[in-house]
Amino acid sequence: MTKKVIVITGASSGIGEATAKLLASQGDQVVLGARRESKLQQIVQEITANGGQAAYAITDVANLDSVKNLAQTALDTYGRIDVWMNNAGAMPTDELSKGQVSDWNQMIDVNIRGVLYGINASLAVMREQKSGQYINLSSTAGHDVNAQNGVYGATKAAVLSISESLRQEEAIAGSNIRVTVVSPGSIATELTDSIRDESVKKEAKAFYAQNEIGPERVAATIAFAINAPADTALNEIIIRPSKQV
Ligand code: NDP
Repeated sequence: MTKKVIVITGASSGIGEATAKLLASQGDQVVLGARRESKLQQIVQEITANGGQAAYAITDVANLDSVKNLAQTALDTYGRIDVWMNNAGAMPTDELSKGQVSDWNQMIDVNIRGVLYGINASLAVMREQKSGQYINLSSTAGHDVNAQNGVYGATKAAVLSISESLRQEEAIAGSNIRVTVVSPGSIATELTDSIRDESVKKEAKAFYAQNEIGPERVAATIAFAINAPADTALNEIIIRPSKQV
């Protein structure tokens, strides 16, 4: 199996961290981006101590220059970008009537702009290479509309639209760039920590506690999509606990 250079945003915890560790253990070269440097350092150290190859750049996906710096770190360190995983996400979800405008803007910035900036920072590189792959994290919330989840769900529906448009554009261009959307259900990570309203958070955590599976399961699914033969694209994978309704 060909080893790849894989950039992962939001790699300091949860699904991004689990995917970085799994791919590095398979021999891929991983480049981690997120805001918490101490977490990134710790994960890179663990990967290298286990014989893997990893680099990191402090990254705010809501800032285009910062995302471009992450792409440049991958190019300077490993010389190419085979896979860009748009994984960074935020979910400070609440009822629209609460009017938490700054939380809405954070979700739009991280979950939509972050994905667009990731594409912007890496697409020309992949086109030049005549190969590449995007792994874009949507959610079951991008498919299902629920009360208390209007903005988060909208940002994840946007990821589906952006990804399908990108898929068609690259297929038309014949660029050998694959697009894979991964839409998880409830996975045990830090994602619910940012919910501001205590009763909404409690409800979300109770739901997750009943239904969650670990981020390692999602990582294994992502590795499967990356390792699929180059002429085969897994365009969307929904992965959720079998008990989740
Ligand atoms: P975590 O909260 O564990 O991870 C989120 C990651 O995003 C962290 O590494 C965080 O790092 C990073 N992040 C947040 N804001 C920014 C930013 N501005 N710039 C760069 N990085 C940022 O949650 P998950 O692992 O669960 O989430 C990963 C993805 O999966 C998200 O897109 C999420 O929406 C999606 N998802 C998760 C589900 C779940 O049940 N867990 C279900 C469906 C989708 P740092 O704070 O260091 O910047």
